[in-house]
Order: sequence, then structure tokens, then C-alpha cells
Amino acid sequence: MSSGGAPGCGSEAAQAPDDVVRVLRRLQERYPEAGTRLHFEDRFQLLVAVVLSAQSTDVQVNRVTRRLFSLYRRPQDFAALEPAQLEPLVKGCGLYRAKARAIVGLSRALLERHGGQVPDSFEELLRLPGVGRKTANVMLSVGFDRPGLGVDTHVLRVSRRLGWHRCQGANAAEMALKALVPREWWSRAHHLLIAHGRAVCLARRPRCQGCPVRSDCPSATEQG
Ligand code: SF4
Repeated sequence: MSSGGAPGCGSEAAQAPDDVVRVLRRLQERYPEAGTRLHFEDRFQLLVAVVLSAQSTDVQVNRVTRRLFSLYRRPQDFAALEPAQLEPLVKGCGLYRAKARAIVGLSRALLERHGGQVPDSFEELLRLPGVGRKTANVMLSVGFDRPGLGVDTHVLRVSRRLGWHRCQGANAAEMALKALVPREWWSRAHHLLIAHGRAVCLARRPRCQGCPVRSDCPSATEQG
């Protein structure tokens, strides 16, 4: 094992990249279908769906976008709306006022700055209203098939329990994980940690007894 540092969290990394990849390979065997569950037909729709997914489930988002995308599909459609017109349509996803404002704002920004196309630059994605680091990472990995490691609540919790960092916040954890996980694994790591967090490494009572990476986990308990 290496004692290399995990930047941003004041912690020594407990794992070496090879150890991390071994864990990821085991998770891949358990979750071969791990990937986004969001429904979308193009990058713009993916962007809207990811913005809607903050503090919401993919099931709820898909329910909302099924109706939403039957009415409005392109940046031009959303840019012509006022946020208040969009609010009732996205209400099922929570934080609906902020999300409606973000979707209208990012649609207008895409038209003004990018000819209506979603940019493939992390920095340009971050400049769009309502787009944070997690959304930008997901857009790169899912939308453009490029390395991205978005940190949501599952990724943060599971990777910390695995001893890959000691970060409390998503941004610091993203930096630590990007320093530790080999780049070619970033996108898969995102999906695999989410799948594991949903199925086994639950927030309240992780099911450690049936966990496929138990032997590599410093947080394993006798419960679950
Ligand atoms: S052993 Fe337990 S805490 Fe560790 S990853 Fe598995 S479920 Fe999570």
C-alpha cells in the first residue's frame, strides 16, 4: 500500500491506485450494468436531466422529463420561457424554483455563447447557470465519453468509508479521488460507487456482511 497524500482533506491516502482498481474491478463484477438511469435523447436533454436530479431520484426526474421533453426539447424552447412558466412542470423534482431558473438561464447561455450546443469544456460547463462540478463531471463522462468523476452523496460516503479519503465535502473529495483513482477509471468509479451506495453501502445501515469489497474496507462492520 502507498502512503501518498489525498490533497485537500489533510489525510494520508490509505490506499494505492492498484488497491483502488482492485476494489473497482470487484464492484464492476457486482454491478456490470452500472450507469446513468436518466432518460435523455441528446446532450442538452441530459444536461437538463442532471440539473433536475439534484436532491431528487432518477425515477422522479424521468417522470418529470417524460412530460417536459414532450413539450419542450431544445435550448430555444426553454430560452423562450420565463422561469415561472417552467416551475409547475419541474415541481416534482424539488428545489423547483431554482431549477427552473437554472434551466432557462443555461438555455439562454447556450444560445448566446455556444450556438445552442452543450460545450465539452469543463470550465465552460461550469460557467452555465445552475451547473456545478458534479453536473459538469457527469456531462463530460456521460455526454462526451470523457473522464469525469462527479461526487454525489453516494460517491462521497462510499469512497470515504473505503478509506480513499477523509473529506467531508464533495469538492475536496473530487480532488482527492481524482488524485487517487486512475484517470481511465474516473467515469466508471462514479457509476460503480453510486450503484454500491444504493444497493449495499447504504447511508444508515451498510450491508457489510454481503459486501463484495468487505476485505478491502476499513469501515466494515459485523452488522448488515
Ligand atoms: S464493507 Fe460496509 S462500509 Fe465498507 S464498502 Fe462494504 S458496505 Fe460499505
